[in-house]
Amino acid sequence: MKTIDKIYINGEFVTPKGTEYFNLISPTTNEKLGKVRLGNTEDTQNAIEAAKNAFKTFSKTTASERIQHLKNIKSSIEKRKTDFVNIMVEEYGGTFQFASVSYEYMLKGFDSAINLLNSYDFIKTMGQSEVQMTPIGVVGIIIPWNSSNGFISSKLATAIVAGCTTVIKPSEMSAQQTQLMIKCLHDAQLPKGIVNIVNGLGEVVGAEISRNPDIAKISFTGSTNVGKIIAKEAVNTMKRVTLELGGKSPNIILDDADLSKAIPLALGAAFMNNGQACIAGTRLLIPEDRLDEVKLLIKETASNFIVGDPKNPNTAVGPMVSEKQYNRVQDYIQIGINEGAEILIGGLGKPEGLENGNFVKPTIFTNVNNQMRIAKEEIFGPVLSIITYKTEEEAIEIANDTTYGLQAYVSSSDSKRAYNVASQINAGRVQVNGISHDPMAPFGGFKQSGIGREFGTIGLEAYLEPRALIQPK
Ligand code: NAD
Repeated sequence: MKTIDKIYINGEFVTPKGTEYFNLISPTTNEKLGKVRLGNTEDTQNAIEAAKNAFKTFSKTTASERIQHLKNIKSSIEKRKTDFVNIMVEEYGGTFQFASVSYEYMLKGFDSAINLLNSYDFIKTMGQSEVQMTPIGVVGIIIPWNSSNGFISSKLATAIVAGCTTVIKPSEMSAQQTQLMIKCLHDAQLPKGIVNIVNGLGEVVGAEISRNPDIAKISFTGSTNVGKIIAKEAVNTMKRVTLELGGKSPNIILDDADLSKAIPLALGAAFMNNGQACIAGTRLLIPEDRLDEVKLLIKETASNFIVGDPKNPNTAVGPMVSEKQYNRVQDYIQIGINEGAEILIGGLGKPEGLENGNFVKPTIFTNVNNQMRIAKEEIFGPVLSIITYKTEEEAIEIANDTTYGLQAYVSSSDSKRAYNVASQINAGRVQVNGISHDPMAPFGGFKQSGIGREFGTIGLEAYLEPRALIQPK
C-alpha cells in the first residue's frame, strides 16, 4: 500500500498543508492501491509564489540553457521506461500497448521542443518594427487523468522552450504517475521553481490556479464543462487560456475505401485508450450500400479483440479508470438502447470473468442517427455509433453536425479525394487513411472542443506575448 504525501514546490519535496487524503483504487481489480495527500489553497499559493520568483531569472535564460534542461529531463525519463509503462497500466488501466506508445510520444515531444528552440525566431522584423516574442509568465497547467504524464511533459516542454515557469495540477487519480514524473524532474536538476506540482482537487487547487492574479496563462486539458468554468474565472484577471476539451470525432469511410484496412483502423480509433480518449473516433460514417459488408467485417475484426488485463501485451481494451466512469458508460449504453439503436456487438454488463474490475464490453451500435444522445455526447468509453449516409455531401454534413471539432478521420483509396473531404471538416486535426501524431502540427479544437492550439510554433506562441518596438522613421 503506497502513501503519497509529498508535493513538489521550489525544487523540494514538501508535505502539503492540506490534510485530506484521496484513495487510489485499481481499475483492474477495484482493490485499494494506496492514498494520496491532497494539497490545499495555501499549497497552491506557495507553488505560484515559487514559480513567480523563478520566472525572474528563468525568463532571461538562453536557448542553449533551455535545450540543456530539456535534454536532462528527457534522459531522466529514458532511464525509467519500465516504471512509466507499468505505473500507467496499474494506475488507470491503460493497456500495455497504449502505455508503451504514450511513453515513446513523450520522448519524441522533447525532441520536437528542442527543434523548436533551435529554429524559432524569438525576435522578428514586422513592417518597421522589431517584434520580441517574450515569455508570458507563470503558466498554470491543469490536466486530466488520461495520459497524465504525456500532458505534463508536452506542456512543460513548451513552457521551457518559451522561458515560462509552471504550476501543474494533475488529476488526483494519477498520483503515482505524477510522483514518478516528479522524481524524473528532480533528477534533471532543473533550476528551482520552474516546475511546481500540486496534487489536489479541481475545485481547490484548480480553482486557485484559475483565480490567482500571478498566473498569466492557463493551459487546460479536460472536459468542456470544466473548461468553461476555468475560462469564466480566468477572464477576471485576463489570463490567456488554451483549452483542449472534449470531442465526438467522426470517421468517414468513403465508398471507394478498402474496408479491410479502414475497419481495423476505425476500431482502433474508437477503442484507443479503452475508449477514454478525447480524439476517439466515436461516430463511424458508412455509405448506406456498404453497411452489410461493414457489419460482417466489424464482427470478424472485433472477435479478435482481447478485453481484459491491461498488463497483457495483447490486450486491446482494458478497464474504465473508475467505477464512476464504468457506470457512466453503462448509462450511455442503456440510453442507446432506449433511443432505438441496435447493438451489433457488446451491450450492458461486464464481460464474463472480468466482474472484479471496471470492464465494459466494447459496444457498437447500428441504426443510429446523428440526433441521438449516443451520437451527440462524449461518452468516454468503448462505445461506437455507426451512422449511414447516401452521398459524400451528406457525410460531410453529418460529420460537421456536432458541437465538437477536435479530430476527424477519413478513409478512401484515392488520397486526393480524401484530402478534399478532409478540407471540408471543421476539426483541428483530420487523420487521412491512418492514425498518427505529429508533434510539430497544431493540435486543438474547433467549436466547443476548445480554444487555441498546442504543439509546433502555433502552440509555442500561446506561451509568448509579442512586444513591438517601433521608432518613427
Ligand atoms: P475534468 O474536466 O473532469 O478534469 C480535468 C482537470 O480539471 C482535473 O485535474 C480536475 O481536477 C480539474 N478540475 C475539475 N474541476 C475544476 C475546477 N472547478 N477548476 C479548475 N480545475 C478543475 O476531465 P477528466 O474527467 O479528468 O478527463 C476527461 C475529459 O478530458 C474528457 O472530456 C476528454 O475529452 C478531455 N480530454 C481532452 C483532451 C484534449 O486534448 N482535447 C485530451 C484528454 C482528455
